[in-house]
Amino acid sequence: MQHIKNYINGQLVEPVSKSYLDNYNPATGKVYSYIPDSDEKDVEIAYAAAKAAFASWSVTSKDQRSKYLLKIAALIEKNLDKLALAESIDNGKPLKLAKTVDIPRAAANFHFYGTGILHYASHAHSMEETAINYTLRQPVGVAGCISPWNLPLYLFSWKIAPALAAGCTVVAKPSEVTPMTAYLLSEICIEAGLPAGVLNIVHGLGGKVGNAIVSHKDIPLISFTGGTVTGKHIASVAAPMFKKLSLELGGKNPNIIFADCDYDKMLSTTIHSSFSNQGEICLCGSRIFIERKLYDKFKNDFVAKTKELVVGNPLDDKTRVGAIVSKGHHEKIMSYIKLAEEEGGKILCGGKIVKGAGELAEGYYIEPTVIEGLAYNCRTNQEEIFGPVVTITPFDTEEEALMMANSTVYGLASVLWTQDLTRAHRVANLIHAGIVWINCWLLRDLRTPFGGVKASGVGREGGFEALDFFTEPKNVCVKLS
Ligand code: NAD
Repeated sequence: MQHIKNYINGQLVEPVSKSYLDNYNPATGKVYSYIPDSDEKDVEIAYAAAKAAFASWSVTSKDQRSKYLLKIAALIEKNLDKLALAESIDNGKPLKLAKTVDIPRAAANFHFYGTGILHYASHAHSMEETAINYTLRQPVGVAGCISPWNLPLYLFSWKIAPALAAGCTVVAKPSEVTPMTAYLLSEICIEAGLPAGVLNIVHGLGGKVGNAIVSHKDIPLISFTGGTVTGKHIASVAAPMFKKLSLELGGKNPNIIFADCDYDKMLSTTIHSSFSNQGEICLCGSRIFIERKLYDKFKNDFVAKTKELVVGNPLDDKTRVGAIVSKGHHEKIMSYIKLAEEEGGKILCGGKIVKGAGELAEGYYIEPTVIEGLAYNCRTNQEEIFGPVVTITPFDTEEEALMMANSTVYGLASVLWTQDLTRAHRVANLIHAGIVWINCWLLRDLRTPFGGVKASGVGREGGFEALDFFTEPKNVCVKLS
């Protein structure tokens, strides 16, 4: 069975400990490869390589850095099929989704920042005849980048690409649950000729490798995407060390559906926004609020469409809902379905474990689940489940919809469905979220700020925001006379 390797100082290397962790295929529930069980010793070696590489990478021209990133983007595109298959096996997501969304987006991230850096400019402030100020934007140093399992290469590259473009070198840790495409990315970086030490990928557990990166005294900034509890811990370690922090955390996103919406478009998109990637996208809408006069029609049609979704083998072209990423996460989702029932929720469809056939018998599958009859402020409606589970709730007024939508500690994304232009803007203005989609979902322009408010995070990724994060502004004031 394959042993994944760390990528340090341009080489694929074993962990210092020589120990490995099991890597599961969630579709079968079987171990199919091994992950380095790295620790602070590997992080220290990676840091030393990144620090040495920073001396030259930080002064390598933007043109040259751009060329490396574009080469990596091209190699990701060239290896689309291989990477998509690896992502699907590692994560449980439908192969089709990995092929059309995850891997193309990983290539786009490198392409976007490979070209974006060429357009990144800094400011000058003239004090008329007295002085001129210009602001340099200098790469901060060795960046620590930590990513989750739900969109493995997509989110890993969303951090690494702007960091490298900005002139930082990187010590990165992908999720131990889905390490494979990060490993394949290291092979691609070697093929692209990326100078040694510019990017270092250390595999292993959050409590060991992640913690060693976050608490490293010479890593001055941390870009983290993952759960809110982990984010809180990271902030508690990194903030007193005065590290720059970007935290992209959990969500409990509302979909607000008004009766005047474009019904067919809304219905098909709401199926996507509920169950894409098994509901394991931080942007999925898990609380659906429907204007009462549309409620019964929506409920019937939505449940009927949900029942049509094919659950099963991620490699099968017909599959719409693949395997849940891990046994532990499968158990967590099932415990929330149980909780929903205890809280008085009525399961309209789904709610059960799906048993696969043959080699899929031990895989982690759950029926897409729709629940009604829950109070907006019960735990099921307040806590992140991060699975194929949504609740539906009627509302009578715009104020009530907003009150329920804004009632959680989270504030990542939201979706509004209405044809009333004035209302759309009014509600968008009042919703507590970093992202509002009106009459669409997951329509992404990589230039826009991406991130959440409240317990969904601190800071923004995307566009020049990420380049601002990975650079430090330095103002230079020149007296003119
Ligand atoms: P997680 O917080 O368990 O892990 C995320 C990463 O942090 C992993 O690489 C993990 O190994 C590492 N980690 C764990 N403990 C650590 C520690 N003490 N120090 C440093 N690193 C540590 O999250 P997850 O289960 O992998 O991902 C699911 C979560 O991610 C959900 O809450 C989801 O909403 C969130 N998410 C948010 C966004 C966003 O953009 N806001 C995007 C995707 C996922």
